[in-house]
Amino acid sequence: MSTQKVVELPRRAVASVSPLTGELLREYEQHTDDAVEDKLALAAATFREYRKVPFAERAAILARAAEILEKEKETFGRMMTLEMGKTFKSAVQEAEKCAFGCRFYAENAERFLADEEAKTNASRSFVRYQPIGPVLAVMPWNFPFWQVFRFAAPALMAGNVGLLKHASNVPQCALAIEDIFRRAGFAEGVFQTLLIGSDRVNKVIADRRIAAVTLTGSVGAGSSVAAVAGKEIKKSVLELGGSDPFIVMPSADLDRAAEVAVQARVINNGQSCIAAKRFIVHERIAGEFEKKFVSRMASLKVGDPMDTNTDVGPLATADVLQGLEGQVNKTIEMGARVLLGGKRIDRKGNFFAPTVLADIPKGSPAHEDELFGPVASLYRAKDMAHAIEIANDSIFGLGACAWTNDRTERDLFIHEIEAGLAFINGMVASDPRIPFGGVKHSGYGRELSHHGIREFVNVKSVSIQEPEPAKSRTE
Ligand code: NAP
Repeated sequence: MSTQKVVELPRRAVASVSPLTGELLREYEQHTDDAVEDKLALAAATFREYRKVPFAERAAILARAAEILEKEKETFGRMMTLEMGKTFKSAVQEAEKCAFGCRFYAENAERFLADEEAKTNASRSFVRYQPIGPVLAVMPWNFPFWQVFRFAAPALMAGNVGLLKHASNVPQCALAIEDIFRRAGFAEGVFQTLLIGSDRVNKVIADRRIAAVTLTGSVGAGSSVAAVAGKEIKKSVLELGGSDPFIVMPSADLDRAAEVAVQARVINNGQSCIAAKRFIVHERIAGEFEKKFVSRMASLKVGDPMDTNTDVGPLATADVLQGLEGQVNKTIEMGARVLLGGKRIDRKGNFFAPTVLADIPKGSPAHEDELFGPVASLYRAKDMAHAIEIANDSIFGLGACAWTNDRTERDLFIHEIEAGLAFINGMVASDPRIPFGGVKHSGYGRELSHHGIREFVNVKSVSIQEPEPAKSRTE
């Protein structure tokens, strides 16, 4: 156990606090109820006009947003790093990925939402996809730009307008994103940020001008938002937590698997919903894999996220650090073995040591919950079927990957794994070209691809009956 005292970081409703030093960087006044009312009114009024804007015009503006993201990626990257601690190099890549996402929807949205002909008994039937109105997006801090853009790019291309309630610890990112859309040329009401705490979200969802809500975040937040949306009969999409399995079988390239396993665990300082969290390895190669994995985890450079040599920076907030420490301590108390790390690092900032745990007891936090930080849990399996059984023994079902060159094992994994994303010999990642989302407590609905853009539309079935041709009088 660490002897360092919990760093007392100031708790503010909407504020940036440095994860590296604990210093308060900037504090914002929350928007008042009147200001929120003005923004809702503007969103509703803007939607009535914006829905008529042709695809080509929307696409040109979104492409300008992509240009801004690319041109200023280092400024945005620095902002993300200072606010939530991700490494600067990964933050710059995040800005680039947002540009890619914007271009993807600028180029494809019209095709994804084109009328679809259907064959029925009517003279003509088709499906028309139409926007539904202002959509509220409740977003997390871990990918403070990408989470927002992967909602906003398709939503705005579909003709909806967006209201963002971002996590309270990333207000600078929230305001910067609003500014990007404004500078790109969208009308003021097309995308607005609400600086409000989570206790004010229910009232916004219930407002009659809000058509739907999407939340990316924890299971608790998702359950609360979905309950209100359900009561109000409003569409919701939930992207929640994950405890992704990373399965390794004897036919895999072990060196490559161990190398990617480390990346997949510590991506975003370990705070990614699709980070690999449970490593399930065939017992024949488990000893060898463990050695390779632990030595790579041990060689990670932990430090200032602005330093380009850093692999793992601080956790985003003091609460995240404290939560993770509690989960690891409890798992160890219940009998898990510590192969590496196991505690916070004795220095200023929210640092937790890269950690590897083995012999994970059932019922322990590492087995039951999501560990949001650089902590890996190792399991051993008899064969692929057993590995899948361990993998599926979770409330989550977001991503999963298997490392194997055996065709039968691959087929079994693809067919039996309870997950929204199943990757073979590669780490799970989001990509605008394929849908993203989970099953079980990882949520419902999909983002990205044509599936994502069709979540917040009215799928209108149109049926046209032409009059029978008039019969001739001589008949
Ligand atoms: P969080 O505490 O659930 O917060 C997410 C957002 O929800 C924040 O804007 C937060 O606002 C708001 N919120 C919290 N409780 C709420 C409530 N009861 N009602 C309405 N809004 C509420 O999650 P986090 O700690 O920021 O993010 C980490 C979680 O997100 C992890 O579980 C991770 O796996 C998940 N995640 C999932 C995906 C995915 O695509 N599946 C992607 C990224 C992250 P405040 O900040 O004001 O509290």
